[in-house]
Amino acid sequence: MRRRNGAALETATFATAVQHIDAVERKPLYHWRPGSRLLTLAAPGCSLRCGYCINYRLSQFGRSGGEEWTGQPADPASIIELAAENGCAIGFSYTEPSLAIELTLALAGLGGPRGIPVLWKSNGFMTPEAVAMVAPVVRAMNIDVKASDDRAHRKLTGGALTPVFETIAALRAQGVWIEISTPLIPGTSDSPEQLATIAHTLADIDAAMPWHLLRFTPTFQMAGRSNPSLPADLAQAREIGLRAGLKFVYIERALGADGRDTRCPGCRQTVVERGIWSTETVHLSGGRCPHCEYRLEGVWE
Ligand code: SF4
Repeated sequence: MRRRNGAALETATFATAVQHIDAVERKPLYHWRPGSRLLTLAAPGCSLRCGYCINYRLSQFGRSGGEEWTGQPADPASIIELAAENGCAIGFSYTEPSLAIELTLALAGLGGPRGIPVLWKSNGFMTPEAVAMVAPVVRAMNIDVKASDDRAHRKLTGGALTPVFETIAALRAQGVWIEISTPLIPGTSDSPEQLATIAHTLADIDAAMPWHLLRFTPTFQMAGRSNPSLPADLAQAREIGLRAGLKFVYIERALGADGRDTRCPGCRQTVVERGIWSTETVHLSGGRCPHCEYRLEGVWE
């Protein structure tokens, strides 16, 4: 995060407000080394201002609202040592990691030779130059797609939608493993038409990118102004994604195993079983379905 504060230029780039260990499934990333542990960090700030942001105290730090934040300096060498001691990869989440791209580059430079990868949860609102910087160093990314058209995206987030899809396509083309999250936001990404538009756009980029449909819970500026998503809406959204040709469509916290488990696109047998934000059993062998030999897209080992 960078800002002008009166006559001063301020940055909070080598800083983190979060440092804890959690599972890769919580990002959510379901097709990247299931069961991996992540040392998760969050540098303050975000390039968007979503009206429903659940992490607004961290993400909106530095804006005029004067949100309080109690971060600590982030020393890359110490972070890598801590990750190594705990057998973790590095994960960025809760805020927008592209605003602290120097921290990612430093961690990747130190951690790469030691086999400690960096993963992101991102809003995808990046320039092509930023994409070119991170593509060689970030191994996997979950990116939000929050709307089906530019006008709705600008109204919800303050930013354009086109750069998000361009980021997804560019990173995927350069070999970064990408999964997508879409919260069912009322009026923006919850109607069958809006969901179908998003799903077809994703399928045109790469139908093997897992699509996570998230239950919407109104917070921040949308608190009290709309209702949480219903399980039936999530089930319908999942069907829309599958009909659009997406191979893997997931729902967390609704529909039980049907929303969490992976079925082989070749034979529809269950090949990965998950609990809530955890992987329980992977039935793949070398990434292949044991029933039909289909090679499931993802990074499994
Ligand atoms: S992109 Fe994510 S972190 Fe940033 S404001 Fe939107 S919901 Fe919050």
